[in-house]
Amino acid sequence: MIPDGLLNCKYELDHIAIAVKSLEDGRKFYQAIGFGDMSTELVESQKVMTGFLAMGNRANIELLEPTSDDSPVAKFLEKRGPGIHHICLRVKGIDSVVADLVRRGIQMIDQTPKPGAHGCRVAFIHPKSTGGVLIELSERPASEGHHHG
Ligand code: ZN
Repeated sequence: MIPDGLLNCKYELDHIAIAVKSLEDGRKFYQAIGFGDMSTELVESQKVMTGFLAMGNRANIELLEPTSDDSPVAKFLEKRGPGIHHICLRVKGIDSVVADLVRRGIQMIDQTPKPGAHGCRVAFIHPKSTGGVLIELSERPASEGHHHG
């Protein structure tokens, strides 16, 4: 079990997301170094195809390929090229976590959670409030609490 002191933190690393031009090209490096199969899912709300590569600690690498020129990820690729796009922290009770951040004056991109991959509910925190890093909060569906996503 995790030592008690560490349980005070409500955030766990869920995934690190990397913007790629193509999932097929992007996956090659990870599979070359020993990652397993990639599971893909279209996320309409973000206009991206996602590819998840599981790591050994319930965290994933998430590759993001834009499905449309007006996808936020397409704009990211245009401006900065391929690379780390966001990190995702897993929480429980995302509605109250987001409400609490708003109360604290944290600038949210999503004031209320919206649907993400694998039935998760997600909300993004604006990089202006985090020191330049786009942070996604994610809550897994209750019935799949121990699945990857
Ligand atoms: Zn993500």
